[in-house]
Amino acid sequence: MPRDFLKGTKDSYDVVVIGSGLAGLTSANILARQGYSVLLLEHHYQLGGMATWFRRAGGHIFDISLHGFPFGMIKSCRKYWTQDIADSIVQLKGIRFENPQFSLRTTFNRDDFTRILVEHFGIAPETVVRFFDTARGMNFYDEQTRTTRQLFEQFFPGRDDVVRMLMEPITYANGSTLEDPAITYGIVFSNFMQKGVYTFQGGTDALVGKMREELIRNGVDIRIRSLVEQIEVGPDRTVRAVVVNGKRIACRSVVSNANVKSTILKMVGEQHFDRSFLEATRAIRLNNSSCQVYMALKPGEGFDESCGDLLFHSEHRGFDIEALLSRNVSSRTFSFYYPETRPGSDRWLIVSSTNANYRDWMELSTEDYELAKKELIESTLACLETYVPNIRSILDHVEAATPSTFERYTKHLEGSSFGTKFEGLQISRELPQQIRGLYHAGSVGIIMSGWLGAVNYGVIVSNDVDKYLMVPGSV
Ligand SMILES: Cc1cc2nc3c(=O)[nH]c(=O)nc-3n(C[C@H](O)[C@H](O)[C@H](O)COP(=O)(O)OP(=O)(O)OC[C@H]3O[C@@H](n4cnc5c(N)ncnc54)[C@H](O)[C@@H]3O)c2cc1C
Repeated sequence: MPRDFLKGTKDSYDVVVIGSGLAGLTSANILARQGYSVLLLEHHYQLGGMATWFRRAGGHIFDISLHGFPFGMIKSCRKYWTQDIADSIVQLKGIRFENPQFSLRTTFNRDDFTRILVEHFGIAPETVVRFFDTARGMNFYDEQTRTTRQLFEQFFPGRDDVVRMLMEPITYANGSTLEDPAITYGIVFSNFMQKGVYTFQGGTDALVGKMREELIRNGVDIRIRSLVEQIEVGPDRTVRAVVVNGKRIACRSVVSNANVKSTILKMVGEQHFDRSFLEATRAIRLNNSSCQVYMALKPGEGFDESCGDLLFHSEHRGFDIEALLSRNVSSRTFSFYYPETRPGSDRWLIVSSTNANYRDWMELSTEDYELAKKELIESTLACLETYVPNIRSILDHVEAATPSTFERYTKHLEGSSFGTKFEGLQISRELPQQIRGLYHAGSVGIIMSGWLGAVNYGVIVSNDVDKYLMVPGSV
């Protein structure tokens, strides 16, 4: 008999949360804390969504998306999770750029970037101040027609070296380009510039483990290996139930942390929406997908601390977004993980991230796909030899992931790793106006992407759900 992962669930809940990414986990936690009965359904065998990790023989643990997030995560974790979680967040100070235009080290905050822009790039101090103030002053209600390219042209005309320093890390962080609305850049960049780049000491497994304990303390019914096939909607366009692993479970509201397009087009079904809303949903562009190469060193072997924590490497002469996103990799970010990442461990690991268009991978036959992964590993090692000359002799394990890997594990269309482009945010926010009681929380619109964006969006949406459930006769 196959195991019943839904054994003992109730017939009905106040809220069903579909997906245990950081947004889904946070919504579930807040709503349970408020006293609602919450069922959390995750199709994978592990919680966390993209905030995940995997183990390999020899005791290696790889983090997938623990490269860096802004300082704001400390406050969000303290307020919406626990002090203990917030206390494990520590700063990464060794950020490095190596490319044909410049070689720099920075703590990646406003003071240090100001110093570099003025001293290294010769930008007038008042221009730098105005640029930072403009970026920080941007908010969702600003005009949304100005692009990031136009923002840079206003402050640094003709300076593609400056644009490279300001934009390259953000393109890596969320796949955004110069044609995306300037506010998506302004908000994400300013979040980082506030106080630098942070990480979770103990690794993603420790973070998600602590979150799981807190969810259980607050009474969330957590079910893994539970794939939601359908969100059932009544003729009055109100959420009624979900169908998960073939079982119907009634609920007053649903928070879907799954991809916004699959939530609408697949799980609910097109017949329940206005035509114009459907057209806008179909038109949402998914944000760029990622590739990674995971490398573990033999126990006891390490690399020089001068490697830093995050290294933005590029061989491309100028700043070229298409080149950055292409499978013909000429740019990579290396994350260097020291044993302190997981206190008590003796392991040194390196993860190389490259942005890569999904279609470049999906067009390949199985054979060519495997070959392309091998080539990616080989070119990554060749590049890494610049910084860790003996990498090949100290390497214990290496493997690669592509957008198709992320698609398999998270069910995200096209393996999209950073949700959707900007237009996805509006659809996500307007969903409850189409279907009463149905909400979406998860990476959308670039701004709501990444660890901090996902957590904060989970908070915003749980407040909306609370307001809905408070109204007498909401269901
Ligand atoms: C390679 C990579 C590196 C990254 N690096 C960073 C970084 O350094 N810093 C940073 O801040 N961010 C990073 N990110 C982005 C960050 O990880 C994500 O933006 C964030 O974790 C997404 O959270 P989310 O809540 O949107 O949901 P997701 O993590 O996308 O989770 C959605 C969940 O829903 C589940 N699900 C989907 N459909 C169903 C269904 N039908 N039934 C049940 N469950 C379902 C999925 O299995 C998944 O668990 C990275 C992402 C990737 C891929």
